[in-house]
Amino acid sequence: MIVLKTQHELERMKKACRISADALNVAQEVIKPGVTTKEIDKAIHDYIVRCGAKPSFLGLYGFPASACISLNDVVIHGIPSDEKVKPGDIVSVDVGAFIEGYHGDNAYTFIVEDTTEEIKKLLLETEASLYKGIEQAVPGNRIGDISFAVQSHVTPFGYGIVRKFVGHGVGKNLHEDPEVPNFGKPGRGPRLTAGMTIAIEPMITLEGDDVVVMPDGWTTKTKSGKAAAHFEHTIAITDEGPVILTKR
Ligand code: MG
Repeated sequence: MIVLKTQHELERMKKACRISADALNVAQEVIKPGVTTKEIDKAIHDYIVRCGAKPSFLGLYGFPASACISLNDVVIHGIPSDEKVKPGDIVSVDVGAFIEGYHGDNAYTFIVEDTTEEIKKLLLETEASLYKGIEQAVPGNRIGDISFAVQSHVTPFGYGIVRKFVGHGVGKNLHEDPEVPNFGKPGRGPRLTAGMTIAIEPMITLEGDDVVVMPDGWTTKTKSGKAAAHFEHTIAITDEGPVILTKR
């Protein structure tokens, strides 16, 4: 069931989304060579708690940390650890905050110092595909219009689209209906109406759609071993168009 939010509820949700977005800014500040993914997670956790919010991911389905921190060929759900980030790594940080009854959810792939042109382009085009998807998030369109916009932006580059995991509705629960796949056909799926709040989150790889979940049950890597990018915003669908609630 898709839960629509009133204007008043959207205002409350904005607060959770603002904290979620600022948590990514905190991550950006601490990501440098030699920092461990656990230290990045701690900085994020402490920030969210200082804001009076709760990290949405902590304990959700048993996840042991406040943020998913995924390096290089890890697409999503990386568990913070003692692994240090190195120059040339890419670090995907996915984080949500819960306050006043609502969640925000967003993700960004950061570059540690510098990386290859190939990977820089992957990041650039994955983020661009997110905005192509957001453009379609208007009343009267369907979920498939968002999905198709993401897919048709990235496929000409030969990139893979992760199909096993998808975007989602977000609100009182972190994961609500509808599912928001990064592939699909225009004009298909649930119709979009004002008051819907969804997380659009392309997970795009340099090569191949297939992913492998590691024995820890979380860490999800590309099957090809090539790099992956992940960008996500929580947005509200309104009569005035899409509003990015997690804008940084
Ligand atoms: Mg999400």
